This record gives sequence, structure tokens and C-alpha cells, in this order.
Amino acid sequence: MRRPATVLADRGYTYLTPWGPSIIGQGIEQYLDLHPVQRKTGPGPRPGTIWVDGQLYSDALPERMWELPGYRMGMTSDERAELAARYDEREPYRFTDYGAPEPGTGKVRLRGPAVTGRVRCDNTPSSKRLKRTASRPTTSCRPGRPCGCSVTVVLDPEDGYARTFQRVGFGTTAWQAAYWRRSAVESTNAELRVNRTNLTKWSIRVRGRARVGLMLGFLLGAMNVLMACDWLGTDWADLEAADELPPKFVRRPPRKAAQHRLRPAEPRAG
Ligand SMILES: [Zn+2]
Repeated sequence: MRRPATVLADRGYTYLTPWGPSIIGQGIEQYLDLHPVQRKTGPGPRPGTIWVDGQLYSDALPERMWELPGYRMGMTSDERAELAARYDEREPYRFTDYGAPEPGTGKVRLRGPAVTGRVRCDNTPSSKRLKRTASRPTTSCRPGRPCGCSVTVVLDPEDGYARTFQRVGFGTTAWQAAYWRRSAVESTNAELRVNRTNLTKWSIRVRGRARVGLMLGFLLGAMNVLMACDWLGTDWADLEAADELPPKFVRRPPRKAAQHRLRPAEPRAG
């Protein structure tokens, strides 16, 4: 069975279970919501670095951006977009990775925002010379006073970073797009367990992942037909009368394949 490439986990998982290292170590990408307890600010692993909402930033991050309100139920899409824009403002100051965490060890290498030209910092002259950084925010770092903007760090899962590690900034527009795919997953679960079919603990009576997977495949197929019936306002039994099927249910071969089949067989050259 294929290993999942991405996990979308809510705060119930990230906070209450030993979350993180095993996911990161298997090379699975994670997008997480955080428990209020995990939403904090603290000193990072190197001078000039800080943890904010489980992610590493240069301490050049303006203080007004350190604590932002969380998303709450019932927000309108405008309100969500407005709040996401406040999280997006933090992005230039965030440490970014050289690549996904190393499979197996789960170690990850992060580089400071002036190294990658995400901010312009007086302590990293190259960040101010590059043309592509011209439109980037300039930090208030003072020359000679050490800051974290050009630091490079290697984080080890044993240090506890993996629990809240995400490759996009928490709360940002990009995070929303990635994490909120979870609501689609939840509504499919609800369709399976309550709305269309009643999948319970004893519904599938075979053992082994492959067999259970196969049974689930049948169940998902049936669920899709039920949803299609509701959508079209027809009943399951109506679909048996093939001539009455709405065009969507008649599987036609692609036109090219059909033409190919109709063509008389050509004698093979040579
Ligand atoms: Zn700096």
C-alpha cells in the first residue's frame, strides 16, 4: 500500500499524542493546526533566533507580529483573508529549509532570511545589494549587533522541532490553502460514517490492510453512486435501466480510441 505523502492534522493530534518525529522521519509532509498551548514565543536554538507558533524566525521579526489571533469558527472568508494577510507579513522573517527533512534521521537544515534574500539586513551586506531584494522589508538590525538573519541551523527531531514543523508559515494564505483541505476529508468521513453509509467498527469483517482497503474501495464506490443519485434526484434502482441513464453515467471511450478500434487492421511492415 502506498505511503501517504501528506498529513493534515488538527490540534487534537499535534498536542495530545507524541506527534512529529515519526511523520517527519518517514518523509511525510505535514500541515498542522496548533493547540493554544503550542502558540507561543520563545528563544531559538541560536542567538538572534526565536520560535513563534512552532516555527523559527529571526528576532528581527517586529514585535507587533509575534502574537496574532487564531482562526475561529464562523469567520467569513473576508475575515479569514484579512487575518491570513497579517500572518503573511511575518513570512519574510522566517527561516526556510534547504529541502525537506532528511528521511530516516528527520534532520533539517534551515537558513536565515537574509541568506535567502527574504529581508534586507545591515549585518548581511549582500542582502542589500541584490536586485531581487529591493522590494523586501529592511530589518531594524543595527550593524555590529549580532542578529539571527544570516544564521544557518540544523534541527534534530530529538530537540522537539518536528512536532510543529511545517514548510509553509503557520496561519498564512499558503497554509490555509494546504491545511483546509482537511475540511474536505472530514466531510467525506461524515458521508461514509453517517450521511450516506453507516460505516462502523464491525462493518468490515476481513483482516489485513489490503483486504480492508479493497472492501473500503467497494464502499466508496457505492457511496459515490448514492451521492450522484441525490445530486441528480434519482433513485438507485432507476440507474439499473441503462437507457434512462443520464449522459454522465454512460462511459464513452475517448474519440481517438474509438476511431482506432474502428480502423481495419494494417498488415505489419517487415
Ligand atoms: Zn538582521
